[in-house]
Amino acid sequence: MFEIMIMNVTERDAVFYHERLSGFLPNRIIDMHAHVCLKAHRRSKGGERGTVSWTDRVASENPIEDLLDSYRLLLPGKQVLPLIFGMTLAPGDDLDAGNDYVRRCAAEHGLPALIFAVPGWGAAEFEERVTAGGFLGAKVYLTWAPPEIATDAIEIFDFLPRHQLAVMNRHGWIAMLHVPRAGRLRDPSNLEQILEIERAFPNVRLIIAHVGRAYCPEDVGNAFEVLAETRRACFDISANTNDEVFEQLIRAVGAKRVLFGSDLPILRMRMRRICDHGTYVNLVPPGLYGDISGDEHMREVAAGEADELTFFLYEEIDALRRAAARAGLTRTETDCIFFGNARRILSGLGVNNPFTV
Ligand SMILES: [Zn+2]
Repeated sequence: MFEIMIMNVTERDAVFYHERLSGFLPNRIIDMHAHVCLKAHRRSKGGERGTVSWTDRVASENPIEDLLDSYRLLLPGKQVLPLIFGMTLAPGDDLDAGNDYVRRCAAEHGLPALIFAVPGWGAAEFEERVTAGGFLGAKVYLTWAPPEIATDAIEIFDFLPRHQLAVMNRHGWIAMLHVPRAGRLRDPSNLEQILEIERAFPNVRLIIAHVGRAYCPEDVGNAFEVLAETRRACFDISANTNDEVFEQLIRAVGAKRVLFGSDLPILRMRMRRICDHGTYVNLVPPGLYGDISGDEHMREVAAGEADELTFFLYEEIDALRRAAARAGLTRTETDCIFFGNARRILSGLGVNNPFTV
């Protein structure tokens, strides 16, 4: 699958990159949302507790070599530093092996990294694991919320518990949060708990992944009015291609709190995303991702249209480009989204010259 998705950079992809993206992007980029993982550490099937499973059709693993090759092939001419973390999706996966792999990749390649943390770790254990691995904070995921909580009732604090936030607050660590719940960003419990994290744990460097999973305008509700009150929380644009949502985000919190993140390896996908009655749908070439007939988030285009599809990564960056133009961002501000804002976060954690570590 890697060969199919990556080696096949078409003439059309190259034109898209050089005409729309290359000049827009700064030469140095920090990707604040990149997964590395090996299939050998994976046991779960995918799709647990309401999470999507189409992502597995794109990549079931992402060794560090593939991640670094992805940047070379997809963003030629750019120097990219990723913040890496695992893709340990659900109980049953080998969490310790996954974290150890990330730790080794980070040490060997001089990359910043987050531990994949689960809520069952007490404060002391959590602190010890992050410190011992040289991690800069934690990535958390809703599938690890206590099993007795119904999927649609999972709240942020069920898998990002206050006792771990207190430890992160003391150290100023990064918390990478994929928000739960069908309401996504607009969900009142999500918004309330994001505000509580800001108030109660002001030193946590909270990053809300995928702009809070607001992939369609219907996912926003009054979220940006509420979030305009925040002062610190950052938002990564990973795996999101919605320029309307990006524009609203920029207008609500300003360019300084928007971070580029890819969500590789799935961003190698060939696709274009649309919203259909408030639900996102990935339009993909026929046959490329197997039998997708049962997946409401996947739809095949006709063979002729498939040639017009490019990489998910390019669609994301191009959507940010359009949003930035409409919001009137300067070159300096867009450079901050792809580099400066992340550098500020990393240097606050002692990673001072990320391109020479
Ligand atoms: Zn991710």
